[in-house]
Amino acid sequence: MNAAQRSELFRRLAAANPEPRSELEYNTPFELLVAVVLSAQATDVSVNKATARLYPVANTPHAILALGEDALRGYIKTIGLFQTKAKNVIALCRLLLERHGGEVPKTREALEALPGVGAKTARVVLNVAFGEPTIAVDTHIFRIANRTGLGPAKTTDAVSAKLEKSTPKEYALHAHHWLILHGRYICKARTPECWRCPIADLCAYTLKTPEPGSAAAKIAKAAKNVPSKAAKKAAAATPRSTRK
Ligand code: SF4
Repeated sequence: MNAAQRSELFRRLAAANPEPRSELEYNTPFELLVAVVLSAQATDVSVNKATARLYPVANTPHAILALGEDALRGYIKTIGLFQTKAKNVIALCRLLLERHGGEVPKTREALEALPGVGAKTARVVLNVAFGEPTIAVDTHIFRIANRTGLGPAKTTDAVSAKLEKSTPKEYALHAHHWLILHGRYICKARTPECWRCPIADLCAYTLKTPEPGSAAAKIAKAAKNVPSKAAKKAAAATPRSTRK
């Protein structure tokens, strides 16, 4: 994708959602940090449900340490990997108090030194809490970058580096959210909704999904049900006893 197309892609995503927001609920950088740590391999909805119960009781490093790991587990037990996450959050609170006076640090190195905080979490916190133009790459952004040609690469770190380098400055702050929301609601993993996608003409994906019920969708469905010559040949060559 060239620079003009990249710029146009973000212009359209921005026009559709001028002020995108994280779908995680938080009021302070610390609440955001803990929510992002809890959100690894879990949905934002499940994290929001847990933090809605936890934060009124404990929303500072001091208060969560006072609560203790057992009680913390009780609040977050509906979230995947909660045992490990409870351990990490307790250790993270301790380190924040020991090294940063209970505040969330504003550098990537200091954030990544905290338990349970990897490159992705650090980028999210820097972007959302501190307004830095970082682009954390999750499963949605990784998929979109590769499908569309926006920043194709084999690892999330490589995609992140490509996107941070190539995203036009005026869109860098919100690029992370625009791409995540686009992946969540339109460019879905299994069946991207290309027929209603605002950036379809800029996207390099060749297997675009036609509008359900359209003539193109019917043709695609029929083509799917017609075995290819190669498949027919393979089936004919397979002994009956081994066919499923
Ligand atoms: S056209 Fe389809 S594959 Fe391309 S970005 Fe849009 S939804 Fe995703």
